[in-house]
Amino acid sequence: MADDEGRRAELAANLQQVRERIARACAAADRPVGSVTLTAVTKTYPASDVLLLAGLGVTDVGENRDQDASGKAALVRAAGVRLRWHFIGQLQRNKAKSVAAYADVVESVDSLRLAAALDRAALSIRDEPLDVLIQVSLDGDPSRGGAVGDDLWRVSDAVASSDGLRLRGLMAVAPLGEDPDTAFARLSALAGRLVVDHPGATMLSAGMSGDLEAAVRHGATHVRIGTSLLGMRNSLR
Ligand SMILES: *Cc1c(COP(=O)(O)O)cnc(C)c1O
Repeated sequence: MADDEGRRAELAANLQQVRERIARACAAADRPVGSVTLTAVTKTYPASDVLLLAGLGVTDVGENRDQDASGKAALVRAAGVRLRWHFIGQLQRNKAKSVAAYADVVESVDSLRLAAALDRAALSIRDEPLDVLIQVSLDGDPSRGGAVGDDLWRVSDAVASSDGLRLRGLMAVAPLGEDPDTAFARLSALAGRLVVDHPGATMLSAGMSGDLEAAVRHGATHVRIGTSLLGMRNSLR
């Protein structure tokens, strides 16, 4: 119990600092603070941390591996806590059904084949369509995930016309070694183009612990924060 109290205090302090960074970034960009949602990236951390964050007012959590996320989501639900679960990792098609069962948003759709698998999964096990963001590769290297070039528009159109899916916007990670401002400026231009064809696709998930200010400057509606909230992860994922 004492340990749990210590962890709660640590998370509360980190959360306050992250919320202050978001508020300052919004003020600097002349945006209302309510226009940016914090998604707490809880990957590698236990369900107990998810519950503590929920108790501190966090509403959205992000996970990148189905093996970890499905169990955590079940534990949190069993505790009677309702959160929005964002799946933010590379996703194999054979995991689509598992993810569609607990995720509220899948942010990492980057291929027609994955979109088709998620559509089938959502239609078979969900009452409501599954919200989807298309992940964009900002450096043109698809190995880190993300649609490259015109694939972005092909995958977006496919998701928008899928009965089991709802196209909500774009997600991206700033490339290593590039100024996040120039990368997120490209992302913002793509988001502006997407919303012309798909007026409901207004979500823009960008910005992590190191670059949330740049993301907010370029219109992010959701920032995905792991390290600054929960601490350094042991592994590099
Ligand atoms: C891990 C991860 C994050 C969080 O990164 P931090 O630098 O720890 O804030 C955000 N987005 C994605 C896609 C991730 O995999």
